[in-house]
Amino acid sequence: MLLDERQTIVEFGKKLVTSRLTTGSGGNLSIYNRAQGLIAIKPSGVDYLKMQPEDIVILNPQGEVVEGDLKPSSELRFHLELYRHRADINAIVHTHQVYATTIACMKWELPAVHYLVGYSGDKVPIAKYATYGTLDLSDNIIEAIGNYQACLMANHGIVTVGSTLQTAFETAEQLELVSQIYYQCKCMGEPEILSTEEMNIIAEKFKHYGQPESRTE
Ligand code: 13P
Ligand code: ZN
Repeated sequence: MLLDERQTIVEFGKKLVTSRLTTGSGGNLSIYNRAQGLIAIKPSGVDYLKMQPEDIVILNPQGEVVEGDLKPSSELRFHLELYRHRADINAIVHTHQVYATTIACMKWELPAVHYLVGYSGDKVPIAKYATYGTLDLSDNIIEAIGNYQACLMANHGIVTVGSTLQTAFETAEQLELVSQIYYQCKCMGEPEILSTEEMNIIAEKFKHYGQPESRTE
């Protein structure tokens, strides 16, 4: 089941490590194939560099395993709830990337210190702390993320969402850059934050960023 999705999760799991967005087995990734009504998620506690497509766990949207021998990610609950609340998303990435997590450990939001925060929206909101894997953590994430494409998780990490795993991964990568810039700015003084109006312009421009569809196919 979901052979392409299994392969994609293994591929992006390795990219999380090589891009220094996570270490060991930390964080998790999933893809929701809405046409088939099936979710593919990383198994719990398995090293990304050793993960094989057959290790990926396949579940229905109620969270019942339909294929796979391994235990699914301990964060399955918030993955399921995000898919239920956000009809626009088909993929989720959760990491402990260092700079974004540093901001999250301060319980700060990430403001629009750089236009690339537009990968999330006009900021990256922060979800309140709760123990990993709990319903409370899931509730806190749903409350904080709203219609943003990312949210920080207090004293824990970051979650990003997207229409594809590629998009959710890129959002995590770009927000790590912005988090590092914000950290460095705060070390030097008080950075100027871009206005909501300016971030609305960025949101419009992002819709047409890069090559037109027909040229990238
Ligand atoms: P899993 O290995 O169970 O996915 O947990 C990692 C993690 O980041 C928990 O928040
Ligand atoms: Zn985590």
